[in-house]
Amino acid sequence: MTTVTFADLGVAEPICRALAEQNYVNPTPIQAQSIPALLEGRDLLGLAQTGTGKTAAFALPILQKLTADRSRPGPKEARAVILAPTRELAMQISKSFESYGKGARLRQTVVFGGVNQFRQVRAMSGGVDILVATPGRLLDLMNQKHVNLGRTSILVLDEADRMLDMGFVRDVRKIIAAMPKQRHSLLFSATMPKSIAHLADEILNDPVRVEVTPEVVTVDRIDQRVMHVDGKRKRELLGKLLDDSDLSRVIVFTRTKHCANRVSEQLEKSGVPSEAIHGNKSQGARQRALDNFRNGKARILVATDIAARGIDVTGITHVINYELPNEPESYVHRIGRTARAGKSGIALSFCDSSERAHLRSIERLTKRPLTPVDTTEWLGEQVVVPAGEPIAPKRGGRGGPNKNGGNRNQPGKQRRFGGKPGGGGQARGNGPRGDRKQGGGKPGGQKQSRRQSTSA
Ligand code: AMP
Repeated sequence: MTTVTFADLGVAEPICRALAEQNYVNPTPIQAQSIPALLEGRDLLGLAQTGTGKTAAFALPILQKLTADRSRPGPKEARAVILAPTRELAMQISKSFESYGKGARLRQTVVFGGVNQFRQVRAMSGGVDILVATPGRLLDLMNQKHVNLGRTSILVLDEADRMLDMGFVRDVRKIIAAMPKQRHSLLFSATMPKSIAHLADEILNDPVRVEVTPEVVTVDRIDQRVMHVDGKRKRELLGKLLDDSDLSRVIVFTRTKHCANRVSEQLEKSGVPSEAIHGNKSQGARQRALDNFRNGKARILVATDIAARGIDVTGITHVINYELPNEPESYVHRIGRTARAGKSGIALSFCDSSERAHLRSIERLTKRPLTPVDTTEWLGEQVVVPAGEPIAPKRGGRGGPNKNGGNRNQPGKQRRFGGKPGGGGQARGNGPRGDRKQGGGKPGGQKQSRRQSTSA
């Protein structure tokens, strides 16, 4: 995040108000670099991935330009066209336009394949200010004369590299050929292979080039562990882990606002001072929560990915992923909250059976397996068996605590995740390949079935 404001970048007041409602306080780097150039009317080549705030980087100037120029679209026309490779991304972009453009009274619609075209044709019949579309369906509607781009003055190609990978290049070229040559063009791509560079040359006119490299996180210094756990027992596991006072400044990540609230309430109830921050909280409430976390009044901060973006609190000892993110890049962002400023840190990820695919994506991205940790000490015996392998009969509570209160596998081993993050503090139990029952340290964790035993 930057320290400038959206108003500093020249964003008009009504849009700033809509952004404040979304709890956007400061522009992200790509927004800070792109918005002034786009408001000046420059073409733009943006090298940026999802998660950098690139949607607002192009949506805000487009909304502002369309609002300032009150011309109306003719029937079947679109004043601005945003092309996206997938239906999901198209819908997401469309939603962003809706929320940033609240009150702007601009008409917009989204078209994509795989559904009946009837509503899309109807939405386009009167013309729109903003059309978000996937290339295949848009071209289809153009060929049927339901859409006319003859007066379109703004074009955005989002995730252009993915669009080309998906084989849309001919469709994209045909769509662009139907637009006026004189237009404002933007192209965003996460990578810049030759094919994209050619396309950019063809469609952009003297563009400003903006490049945002993803935050470099020293993941190597972070001790990354995964705890396979039944979804219903995550709450219990979290509570027990937090009995260890070495977990002194902890961010707990959830995927949803609802879950963040629930976890924080449960912690408070059990006497653990915590704060929750997420997009539904007012800026004031978020600031207070962060202050309490920074000054140590709250030991735990429960946060969603978006709310936590840009948070820079030093001395975070542990990051706990209560729910794994569905975007693996978010995992890297999350764990980067610990190990700040050259320090090391510990990241613990809870993974239930529905989250194994997320775990695999994370391990693919970070190119290293997360170290599995036996949860017996906290939850009693929880036998995790690779699929197809017979469950071994229980003999004397295999893996359960031994008489010394330690672990049978590693008797007398320290019971916690505390100590020096990344160094002296040993997660209990297992090295990367220490526990065959937890997936043998194989990246992605193989398919496992789980049997739960209540006898600890
Ligand atoms: P994007 O890269 O456009 O997909 O954006 C990633 C996420 O960041 C989205 O959920 C946005 O709502 C959020 N976001 C974008 N810009 C900001 C900002 N300036 N402040 C806070 N959140 C933002």
